[in-house]
Amino acid sequence: MSGGPTNSGHGMAGAAAPTGLTIALSKGRIFRETLPLLAHAEILPADDPETSRKLVLDTNLPDVKLVVIRAADVPTFVEYGAADMGVAGKDVLMEHGGDGLYEPLDLGIARCRMMVAGPPCSAPPGGRLRIATKYVETTRCHYAAHGQQVEIIKLYGSMELAPLVGLADRIVDLVDTGNTLRANGLKPLEHIADISSRLVVNKASMKMKHARVKQLIDLLAEAVQRSAAAKAAEKGP
Ligand code: AMP
Repeated sequence: MSGGPTNSGHGMAGAAAPTGLTIALSKGRIFRETLPLLAHAEILPADDPETSRKLVLDTNLPDVKLVVIRAADVPTFVEYGAADMGVAGKDVLMEHGGDGLYEPLDLGIARCRMMVAGPPCSAPPGGRLRIATKYVETTRCHYAAHGQQVEIIKLYGSMELAPLVGLADRIVDLVDTGNTLRANGLKPLEHIADISSRLVVNKASMKMKHARVKQLIDLLAEAVQRSAAAKAAEKGP
C-alpha cells in the first residue's frame, strides 16, 4: 500500500491495481449468493474462501481479484480504494453512513429486515428505553426520527440474550425467518428497513476504470434481473 489511505477524495489510495479490478466480499451468505451473479459476468474464483486461508483470491480472469474480509469492513475498503468494488449489506452501509462511495445496484440477495424486537406484552419502562444492538448509528437515527430518547447499548452479537437477562428492554437486529426471535421468546415490534446486499463502487475507480466497471455493473444487473424473473416464474401466476 503506497502512502496508506488519505481523506483526499477517498481515491485510489489503497492496494487496488491501477488496471484490473479488486472486488471485496465477505465470507458466508454474501459470498455464496454473489457467486452466481459473478459467474454470469464470467468471473469464477480460483479458491473457496470457506476452506482457503487466503485473503486475496485469484479468479479465472487475470485482471480480477477478490478480497475476502469482514462484512463491516467492505465499505471502508471500497471507500479508500483498497478495492474497486464490493458487496455489502444495506445494514452495514446504513451503519457506515456518508456518501463516500457509489451504490449503483441492489443485488437482491441476503434479504431480511432490520427490526426492533422485544418481549411480547412488555410494558414500556418508566424511564428511557434501553436498546441493545450492534447497529448503534442506525438505531440512534431511527429513534431520533421518532423524537424518542433512548439509551443504546453496543453489543457485538447474541443481541437476543439482552432482554432475557435484563440488559436491555429491546433489541435492534436483522430478522429473516423470525426463528431466532421466537426461540428466545421475543417478537418483532417495529420495522426499521428492508435489507439486501448492494454493489458498492469506489468513486475514483468509477472514473478511472469506467469502461470495465460499467461493463461489470451491467452484467451484474442483467444477472439480478434474470434471477428475479426465474424466481417469479417459479412462484407462478
Ligand atoms: P432468523 O432466525 O431467520 O430470523 O435470522 C436471524 C438471525 O440471523 C439473526 O442473528 C440475524 O442477525 C441473522 N441474519 C438474518 N438475516 C441476515 C442477513 N441477511 N445478513 C446477516 N445476518 C442475518
